[in-house]
Amino acid sequence: MAHHKIASMSITKHNWTKEEVIEIYNKPIMDLLYEAASIHREHHDPNVVQVSTLLSIKTGGCPEDCGYCPQAARYHTSVEGNDLMSVSQVKAQALRAKSSGSSRVCMGAAWRNVKDGPEFDQVLEMVRTINKLEMEVCCTLGMITENQAHRLAEAGLYAYNHNLDTSEEYYKEVISTRGFGDRLQTIENVRKTNVTVCSGGIIGMGESIEDRAGMLVALSTLNPQPESVPINALVAVEGTPMEEEKPVEIWEMIRMVATTRIIMPETQVRLSAGRMNMSREGQAMCFFAGANSIFAGDKLLTTPNPDVNEDMKMFETLGLKPQKPFIKVSQPTTVEAENSQFAPLDEKPKWSRPGHVIEKNLEASGKGKQSFNAF
Ligand code: SF4
Repeated sequence: MAHHKIASMSITKHNWTKEEVIEIYNKPIMDLLYEAASIHREHHDPNVVQVSTLLSIKTGGCPEDCGYCPQAARYHTSVEGNDLMSVSQVKAQALRAKSSGSSRVCMGAAWRNVKDGPEFDQVLEMVRTINKLEMEVCCTLGMITENQAHRLAEAGLYAYNHNLDTSEEYYKEVISTRGFGDRLQTIENVRKTNVTVCSGGIIGMGESIEDRAGMLVALSTLNPQPESVPINALVAVEGTPMEEEKPVEIWEMIRMVATTRIIMPETQVRLSAGRMNMSREGQAMCFFAGANSIFAGDKLLTTPNPDVNEDMKMFETLGLKPQKPFIKVSQPTTVEAENSQFAPLDEKPKWSRPGHVIEKNLEASGKGKQSFNAF
């Protein structure tokens, strides 16, 4: 009997194949939910969900061409660009988030990669400030070098977000200004520090189930697996190359969450963009399937998100409790700027520019120029 028990315990496996993942994804939904929920309960408290707050500390004007993103300078969207926020603004927002139940703050800047200098120093100060508020601090700043990862770690960064977005094959249909390999390189740079890795992707960009599985294979075969995996549903924004994409069905989201949970049992699975289009029942099924984090606040970077009060009502209805910070990994210590061991190196890293052409991205940027000229 003991033998049977051991066999039924899920252990983290790092050699998932695309075929195995597709098979899980396509299981009858009742089997899929049961399996995912069972694994979820072995590794997590099923009645606890982390509330995270996403802050756009520098919005718009990005030089990249990610086909889903309204912040790319080349697409004509209604997003207004902003300069880098001040440390005191960020602190005020973090305090507000904390008082409404958030235990994690994720700061996003629309940069291709981090450059050493006063702006990065300011971000490091934001990291120190939020870590001292005893909240998990996460940043998403584009590609970073190993030295920059060390500097963030020293400031007290808890997690670095760098999404793979989709499979390696489909990546070429979404972004032309950098390669999949660059993504993996940044994740590797983060892994050389104690900062945890947050990496996930987006469904609903016109990719196949194979691509969804390909992305999950790429994430789950990293060793260690990312501590955090956000699953986004595309929010199709007018002016971007993906403005015409159909919204994903709730069942696709549930399948994606459940599959992620099964192949990455320890990971924090995050319901990210696209929650506006999900009913409470749909979200409840995602939590049952293993999602254990949501993003709070009326905006997710630039797209609409449910109201905090609505979310708190949902928590009450479902009997969920917000997760406390530093459950799996303890709070990092903050080293003050003047005691830093890592000086800026002013490196000029060679991030790739694959330079292939994506027709729909090109068309969308053309449209942007036309309407711009019309003014
Ligand atoms: S997703 Fe990030 S890197 Fe890509 S265009 Fe948007 S802000 Fe830039």
